[in-house]
Amino acid sequence: MSWNYKKSAELYGIKHWGKGYFKVSENGCVEVNPEPKKCLNLYELTQDLIERGIRSPLLVRFPDIVKKRVELLSQCFSNAIEEYNYKGGYAGVYPIKVNQQRHLVHEIIKFGANHQLGLECGSKPELLVALSLMTTPDAHIICNGFKDIEYIETALLAQKLGRNTIIVVDRMVELDLILEASKKLNVKPHIGFRSKLSSKGSGKWIESSGAKSKFGLTPSEMVKGVEKLKQLGQLECLELLHFHIGSQIPSIQDIKSSMKEGAQFFRELNLMGAHIKYLDVGGGLGVDYDGSGSSYSSTNYNVQEYANDVISIVQSICDEKNIAHPQIITESGRSLVAHSSVLIFDVLGNNKVAKEDVSFSQKECDSRIVQEMYEIYTGINTKNFNEFYNDLIEKKRDILQMFTYGVLNLQQRAQAEDLYWATLTKIQSFVKDIDEDLYWKIKKTLSETYFCNFSVFQSLPDSWAIGQYFPIMPIHKLNEKPNNQATIADLTCDSDGKIDKFVEGENFEKQKYLDVHELKEGQTYFMAAFLTGAYQEILGDLHNLFGDTDTVHISITDKGYTVDHVVEGDSVENVLSYLAYNKSVLLENIRLASENSIAAGKLTRQESRLLMRHYEKGLSGYTYLQETE
Ligand SMILES: *Cc1c(COP(=O)(O)O)cnc(C)c1O
Repeated sequence: MSWNYKKSAELYGIKHWGKGYFKVSENGCVEVNPEPKKCLNLYELTQDLIERGIRSPLLVRFPDIVKKRVELLSQCFSNAIEEYNYKGGYAGVYPIKVNQQRHLVHEIIKFGANHQLGLECGSKPELLVALSLMTTPDAHIICNGFKDIEYIETALLAQKLGRNTIIVVDRMVELDLILEASKKLNVKPHIGFRSKLSSKGSGKWIESSGAKSKFGLTPSEMVKGVEKLKQLGQLECLELLHFHIGSQIPSIQDIKSSMKEGAQFFRELNLMGAHIKYLDVGGGLGVDYDGSGSSYSSTNYNVQEYANDVISIVQSICDEKNIAHPQIITESGRSLVAHSSVLIFDVLGNNKVAKEDVSFSQKECDSRIVQEMYEIYTGINTKNFNEFYNDLIEKKRDILQMFTYGVLNLQQRAQAEDLYWATLTKIQSFVKDIDEDLYWKIKKTLSETYFCNFSVFQSLPDSWAIGQYFPIMPIHKLNEKPNNQATIADLTCDSDGKIDKFVEGENFEKQKYLDVHELKEGQTYFMAAFLTGAYQEILGDLHNLFGDTDTVHISITDKGYTVDHVVEGDSVENVLSYLAYNKSVLLENIRLASENSIAAGKLTRQESRLLMRHYEKGLSGYTYLQETE
């Protein structure tokens, strides 16, 4: 049975998590395919970019995918509104904390302009970005997060620039600040209340719920707030009710129960006389990272089902009391941007334990236990493997002890270990149909480590921090069978700097290693992590001083592609400057030390020149490994 690209597509599950944006093409490469007519070979693109001087690891963003995601969310809400004959309308906002990168936010605003897509900010710096970038008429700027008077006054004054800011009261004290500031500036505020829900979702990113949650007003605070506004004759300023149950909610049941509670709050506030126009249902719309539909890294619903549930629940709760349907606002960010970024990296080398053969004969073994291992190695077969395998494991243990006590020397231990790995490799070759458990156990023991040119902490922090799955696969050679199994290790010196969580095959098998191709001398093997567009960039950190990667924006055209933007990654000097190191001081220290060594006769002038050159080049270079030119 020969291998082909279709089998690779199945193995890596690209159909499930790729959502049609990514495919394996006939020529064995991953293809980006946002629309039927637009497709681009990711491997060829990588080579083109590297020829241009863009460095691996590199992050590629695809605005075409951003556009599709923005349209999908709006379309799904339009469909739901039509299907249920909902009267209130819909407009989303993009929470910029999900990815604040300037070019990306520009693209979101551009593609969202027809859909009145606004922005959500959760801090003062984010507010400043949102106010400056948002030019879509009437699109909302939802102002969340901790607020001081400066934040509030800025948001109020921005109304005079035509920015449609709604200030959400996240904590009760903020209501007084808003009222004071609006009086002082003589600006009528658009006020939102964030409510604390008691329905609790599940998932890794859920917000705390109930009375103790970090943000939001308790029912009693909401009642007081409404009464206060009523007294001041300003109840009409209360235009929005907001709640947010957290990010990446895997289960539609959890989404539904929080929608019900949130819609009920909305209805009650209306019955108290607050004619609230907008119901902001927050984020939570998940992304299917592993394709399984049944894990924390996945969802058991799609975007259309989400939209249908939001619309139908709000509608039925309002209709019971004849309350006008509010305009729905969503704050989905993950779902808009996760698919649009791909991290591409090269494999630097591997650490292989499997052995087809040993390079010595039994006669060359001068220790009895090693000779016995040799006998196991040559004698093991389909009949005796159980007993022989147990023997092998026992002897491996003894060998270690004997080495520690000085009974075996280093050569003897080396022979014993070679025999151990060669025997396991031999068992693996015949045991699959006889004893599947043992086969998988051995396969795991024999899996390799592929050392890859990137940092998990910088580029896939959620993989490390909360064990999130990301789809990872080679981007070429997909017509060849991947014969190796490997976990992935990054460049950092941290034992956590690895990826050993993968989902493979049509049964969404969770495993600690990925099927990969053998590395060939003289050919760079490229792999990619997909769906990295949400949160990963901004949460990434400088562990071991690995900085931002090079980033490019690629638009796909009928004929090929265009490079829209190149954002150069951090140089070593950049990264060091964040930590208060100064290039000229560093250089000066090395220069002085060199002069002293030259004077002491320990360093020649030529050696000093070479050292200075490496040092300077190092400071201006990439933080990741680079091929020598
Ligand atoms: C983080 C956050 C979001 C984003 O939610 P996603 O589901 O990750 O897109 C939305 N609203 C608020 C208030 C948030 O804090």
